[in-house]
Amino acid sequence: AVPTAVMVATGKGAELGVLIKGGEALQRAGDLNTVVLDKTGTVTEGKPAVTDVVLATDGAFVHREHDLLRMVASIESRSEHPLADAIVRHARGLGLTVAEPDTFESQTGRGAIGVVRDGDATTGRDVAIAVGNAALMADYSVDTASAQADVDRLASDGKTPMFVAMDGVLAGVIAVADPIKESSRAAITQLHAMGLEVVMLTGDNQRTADAVARLAGIDRVVAGVLPAGKVAEITRLQALGRVVAMVGDGINDAPALAQADVGMAIGTGTDVAIEAGDIVLMRGDLRTAAQAIALSRRTMRTMK
Ligand code: ADP
Ligand code: MG
Repeated sequence: AVPTAVMVATGKGAELGVLIKGGEALQRAGDLNTVVLDKTGTVTEGKPAVTDVVLATDGAFVHREHDLLRMVASIESRSEHPLADAIVRHARGLGLTVAEPDTFESQTGRGAIGVVRDGDATTGRDVAIAVGNAALMADYSVDTASAQADVDRLASDGKTPMFVAMDGVLAGVIAVADPIKESSRAAITQLHAMGLEVVMLTGDNQRTADAVARLAGIDRVVAGVLPAGKVAEITRLQALGRVVAMVGDGINDAPALAQADVGMAIGTGTDVAIEAGDIVLMRGDLRTAAQAIALSRRTMRTMK
């Protein structure tokens, strides 16, 4: 039988906008001492928008910002990543025609590649596009040195810079900014006040991650991690004796949500994450994660 205290707490959780999937999750949440947060869509709004387009000065192929955006948007129209979505929305907002690419391949945690037609069927030519982070550029031996200063500056502002290569030559950088949720800073202050260690995990680069963490009041950051790396970090913390909550929203967070002692899914996130979570934060507000932990602690005390 489910103890009355658990039923009461589950009901209170629902009132707060927190769906607790069973008494066991509630119990474990009372023992947490570490909260790991995904960045994009968890600490931030997850609705990134293009802020800057920088053309490589020695780029061999692109002459105009709109040509670059049109071709990159064509590739990104096939990607489900929020960064891709930002680029496509930006291109459409400029009135550009976003055509189907000839080929497309997603490279998880790195970016996307594909071939698009530049110009019409007879007079145009096929261009191989790669859009993504430094690791993706390294995979295709693209020299990014000429853009490094721009990339560093953009990342220091908390923006996510993405390199664009055309036929293996750097063509430019597109930066996207994803604002921090208004509630995140207060939530992190609350978590700290409750004695919890807060860590942010992200596939994004170190500089951008550090800037976002600084704005949100988070003191530990692990950047540049692939989905498997998120699981590894949680396992590492658990091996140190920590009781770990993972809060995430994306498909790529699902394995980490499952590995954590308590997986907390953002209710506005992907179905896969919601499925993997023990607790669902319906409004995506991190303050409700702190409230859920406080509720669990109180409930466990009354049951002892
Ligand atoms: P996060 O953990 O922040 O949600 P991901 O692991 O999904 O990030 O992605 C890591 C990095 O890979 C991104 O910051 C970006 O630089 C690059 N990337 C991933 N997908 C794309 C894409 N479709 N277009 C461009 N860049 C991408
Ligand atoms: Mg995310």
